[in-house]
Parts: sequence; structure tokens; C-alpha cells
Amino acid sequence: MVDYIGVTDVARLIQAIGPGKFIERLALEILADYRRWHEFEKSARMASHSEVGVIELMPTSDGRLFSFKYVNGHPKNTAEGLLTVTAFGVLADVATGYPLLLSELTVTTALRTAAMSALAAQWLARRDNRVMALIGNGAQSEFQSIAFHRMLGIRVLRLYDVDPLATSKLERNLRAMPELRDLELVRTSSTTEACRGADIVTTVTADKKNAVILTPPMVAPGMHLNAVGGDCPGKTELHGDILRMPQARVIVEYEPQSRIEGEIQQMDASYPVTEFANVVLGRAPGRRSDSDITIFDSVGFALEDYSALRFLHALLNEGHIPRRQIDLVPVLDNPKDLFGGTLGAGVARPRLIKTG
Ligand code: NAD
Repeated sequence: MVDYIGVTDVARLIQAIGPGKFIERLALEILADYRRWHEFEKSARMASHSEVGVIELMPTSDGRLFSFKYVNGHPKNTAEGLLTVTAFGVLADVATGYPLLLSELTVTTALRTAAMSALAAQWLARRDNRVMALIGNGAQSEFQSIAFHRMLGIRVLRLYDVDPLATSKLERNLRAMPELRDLELVRTSSTTEACRGADIVTTVTADKKNAVILTPPMVAPGMHLNAVGGDCPGKTELHGDILRMPQARVIVEYEPQSRIEGEIQQMDASYPVTEFANVVLGRAPGRRSDSDITIFDSVGFALEDYSALRFLHALLNEGHIPRRQIDLVPVLDNPKDLFGGTLGAGVARPRLIKTG
């Protein structure tokens, strides 16, 4: 039998642990995995593009556990009442190749993206952060807000979305959370206004084009930019001149993938970037001065989903939710008798697979 975690299970886990604490714990797991970067098999994700979106597979392994995520990105979906991003994933045992866990990853992707964003900001932003501009107030935005409140000390959020209903939804959801009582929400009427006085700017918009959400006049020396929404070929958020600013310092997750999908797809191959792992391993500096403009060119890397699946699986042992299992793989008394053991008379009883 294979462990199964559905959307309601993740919701219950987050209720039990608390969203801020959940994200913070997940960020620590991600950090631990980035610290053993060299142990992971790495590849740019496999992407199947269409006119309206993308479907991607994101695999990785550390030689003991293997994981993959299925994820889509369809910006036009919300107009049809569907999510832009949905996902699920599998954690498997390398020794046997058997799946250990099948999990929802739609909510979890939002959690891990927020955890990764805040983790990167902890390493790259200045120390004294209080104000964040949040451009794009859709599905990911609450998660980003909670993460930056909890992990960066953000106490003022300056909000902007081209869809005012999205901002109203975000305000409603954040105001309903007791742990965010001390978070001030400021509605603004443009990205320029939202960025005014911000220490950190998070862009998390969705459009299948090279959008220009941020331009150089909106960016001040010392800012940290958390650019989340540009994550596909032909889908970016920053004006290229921001990347050309002399103070700009770009940090990416996995360079070969980010060259294809990140903001840096706008630059040629010689444009200098630093991988986040090299910063946490002390091999490269993150921010070098208070006037640097640090840019986390986030696209989402398979290691972060591996960390999330590993974390979810471990949480099953903490007793927050009942363990659920599914018969994804046949369990046979005689492994050579697939036919008899599944379709024949002697169907074997389900057996728990040891997870090591
Ligand atoms: P969503 O469709 O729910 O929300 C996007 C919001 O952006 C919408 O409210 C939309 O009105 C707003 N928007 C679009 N154009 C805008 C503009 N010019 N100015 C201001 N607001 C604008 O999508 P989501 O699930 O929140 O995802 C947001 C983006 O993040 C997507 O592009 C998605 O692919 C990306 N994403 C990245 C990662 C990562 O790891 N980097 C992970 C998950 C999602």
C-alpha cells in the first residue's frame, strides 16, 4: 500500500501546525536539502507547451529517495473558474523503485514556493525589512504574505493587482488570520505606487507573455526583488533594464533551468548569475552591500518539491492526521504471478511497504 495525502489532509495538517509555522518548518527542510546540493540528480524540467499553458514534470533524486512533480501553468484558467497552477507528486524508494507517497501538491506548491521565496530573502535581503509590495494577488499571494510576515518580519503589505476583486479576496483572507493581526494592508492603484517605500517587492502575476510588471524607476537601491511569476519561456515580469542595473545581483535556483525559464532568459548566456546553493554553502556572496539590488529569479526547482514531499511524508508520523493508504501497486504473495495475484482467484491482502 502507498501513503496518500489529499487536499483535505494538507488543509488539516496546516490547521494543526499553523500556516506560518508550517511554511517555516518547510523552509528549514528546503535549506537542509540545498546544503547537500551535490547529492542531488539535477535536470531542467520537462515542459510540454501549448498556446494556452504548460504541463511540466520535475524529477530529482538523492540516491535514496526519488521524487517527481506534475504541474501545469495556465494563466487563462481563472477566467473559466479553474486554477492557474495545479500539481501532484510522488516520493519513491530508490532501492526498490516502489512509490512510498502520492500527494496533492497544488496547495503544497504554493506553500513551498512561499517557503523558498522567504528563505531566499532571508539570505539576500537587507536585515531591516518591514514593507513589502505584493504585485499579483491571486492564488499564491496569501502564502507569500504569511511567509514574509513570519520569516522576514514584514509588517506592511502594499497590494496591487489589475483585478481589484483579487486584492479584495487577499485582504479578506489575511484579515481573517489571527496570526497576522499586526500586518497592515495598504491597497494601491498601480505597481509604481505599491513599490514606493518597499524593502522587498514580490511579483507573482500570471500572464503567458513577456510582461513588464517592474521597470527600473520602480526599483530603489537596497531593494530585494522576489520575482516569482516569470517561470516559462516567453513569460517574464521584469524589464530587462532592471537586470542591467549596475547594482543588480541575480540569484537563481538551478542555472540551466533558469536560463530557459527565468527572468534571465532575456539576457545572453554570459550574464552573471549565482546559484542559491552556492550562497548557502558559503561559496559565493549573496548581498554584498546595502545598495545591492538582489533579485531572486524564482522559477521553482525539483529539489524544493522533493523537500516538500519528504516533509509531508515525515509529518504522517506526527499524528496530526489519520494515515490514508491506496492500492497503487499490487501486493503479491508470488511476485512472478501478477496475473493470478490481481485478476485470478488468490488476490493477496494489502501489505504496508517499509519506508526505511
Ligand atoms: P493566479 O492566476 O491565481 O494569480 C495571478 C494574479 O496576477 C491574478 O490575480 C491577475 O489578475 C494578476 N495579474 C496579471 N497581470 C497583472 C499585472 N500586469 N499587474 C498586476 N497583477 C496582474 O496565479 P497564481 O497561482 O497566483 O500564480 C502566479 C504566478 O506564479 C504564475 O505565473 C505561476 O506560474 C507562478 N508560479 C511560480 C512558482 C515558482 O516557483 N516560481 C510557483 C507557483 C506559481
